[in-house]
Amino acid sequence: MQRFVAALLTEAGALVEPVEPDGLEVLAAPPLQQALGIGELSRFGFGPALPDGAQRIGIESDWLARFEQLVGERGRYTREVRRPAVRRAPEHEQLLEQELDLENAVYRLLGAAPAWTRYLVPTFRVTALSDEKREGLLGLPINLATGAMPDAMLARLEEREDWFEPDAEPQEETVPEDAALPSDWPPERLAERIRQALPWRADAALATFVKGLQRRLARDLDRLHAYHNDLHHEAALRAAQLAAGDAGRQREAQRIAAIAQDYRAKLDDLGRKYALRVTARWVQTLDLVLPVQRLTVQIRRRKAERVITLDWNPLIRRLESPPCEASWSAERPRLVCDEALHLVVPAGLAPCPSCGRGYCRACHPRACPKCGHAGRLLAFTKFAVSTARSGNGNAGKEG
Ligand SMILES: [Zn+2]
Ligand SMILES: [Zn+2]
Repeated sequence: MQRFVAALLTEAGALVEPVEPDGLEVLAAPPLQQALGIGELSRFGFGPALPDGAQRIGIESDWLARFEQLVGERGRYTREVRRPAVRRAPEHEQLLEQELDLENAVYRLLGAAPAWTRYLVPTFRVTALSDEKREGLLGLPINLATGAMPDAMLARLEEREDWFEPDAEPQEETVPEDAALPSDWPPERLAERIRQALPWRADAALATFVKGLQRRLARDLDRLHAYHNDLHHEAALRAAQLAAGDAGRQREAQRIAAIAQDYRAKLDDLGRKYALRVTARWVQTLDLVLPVQRLTVQIRRRKAERVITLDWNPLIRRLESPPCEASWSAERPRLVCDEALHLVVPAGLAPCPSCGRGYCRACHPRACPKCGHAGRLLAFTKFAVSTARSGNGNAGKEG
């Protein structure tokens, strides 16, 4: 924290000197004084003991928000070109056998060649708000050439220093330096992909949190029910002991109605308390250029055929599986649809819950083509994704 603040304030034009213990002395010009709400000469402390006259800067304070303002849009978009070392050239047929899991179609390798690709990795701050709050970062890597979403890259992106293996042999074939890079996707295409792919992953990331929430809700529901059930039971018992026409009997009946009403109101309160709202805000983008091995594969189903490309990713050392074109989830295996040879998860070709006819959710994302039953693979109703892209002015839509 101390290093970050020293670097940030120096960059903002302040004179920064370390002071003991664990502190900084800062001489700031008027614009910076105003931006941070500090005086011309200030002292800040970061450790358990503060230097004389120092203000404490910690992670729990509002200082992070002030620094965020100062950082502004800087650092939100990074482009990197890397050439990670690779131990050996992969066996293409073997890679396809391992990764291309088609249950109802056959495929044929048409060719393989080195190529460049771009991975766009937008990172989202995901906030889940219920009776408790959870916040976390979620990255969504997209191969702009093939459309694949190799989530396994995220772990490798965290440990960037390890990308280079000094003792590794160079790649047998190298990518021509002038080979074309895939271009940016239109903002609508990118926004649509994010809207489809992010909820599924946020749901997986929040699974433990949601389980805890459901456990607390079930516990509260049990308590509430037990409490009102006892009251109801006692009132009913008292009423039964009184003779018909007794005024007390009517009083007990009114009490029973009041207990039921109170129970319903308390249930509504619990519903509100445990309602889960998830929001995702796009905070950072990495644009990573990497050399890949590009496999061109022909898919055949019945008399139809389609050609797709799959990249062998040097960071995860795997062939990227083709994305499910209906849900964009990472589930496996893939089935191939009859109409357009879409690759989808089995649920993407499942029978319509209304008329029973199977249909492709990539061909017909909104509704069943036979009966019009609206069917979506994902039913997130309380998920708000902001796909407004920060950093390079390429704004998407709010969704
Ligand atoms: Zn139907
Ligand atoms: Zn289809």
